[in-house]
Amino acid sequence: MNRIEGGCLCGAVRYEITQSPMGAGACHCRACQYASGGGPNYVALIPKNGFKVTRGAPKRFTRPGGSGADVTRVFCGECGTPLWSEGAMPFLPVKVGGFDDPSALEPGIHLWTSAAPPWHPIGPGRPTFPENPPMS
Ligand SMILES: [Zn+2]
Ligand SMILES: [Zn+2]
Repeated sequence: MNRIEGGCLCGAVRYEITQSPMGAGACHCRACQYASGGGPNYVALIPKNGFKVTRGAPKRFTRPGGSGADVTRVFCGECGTPLWSEGAMPFLPVKVGGFDDPSALEPGIHLWTSAAPPWHPIGPGRPTFPENPPMS
């Protein structure tokens, strides 16, 4: 795949992605609604060893996620842009809004739709899960 580069709105934090995403989706859980400002979080799942911060030192906020396990939300301390999350998973959910080219991949799977407000549209034919998808 082509390398993906991205960062925050003010440019203080930059990162690069060198491995193909394991998937891409939208999380509608309440914590993501807070982190995004209202909508779901649109994320690409990046293998942990395919992700590298190339500039800056982002801030972190940790609290239990929907599954009960700690989720650390990483954001720019200068401009507040939410950037990615860290947890027990072997991947990092990286928010596609920070990609230099957010059109590069479509977050087509919708998670935690049970928490989505009724006014938020979800495209027809998209896989949806009321909470996290079953882990196999
Ligand atoms: Zn910033
Ligand atoms: Zn979420």
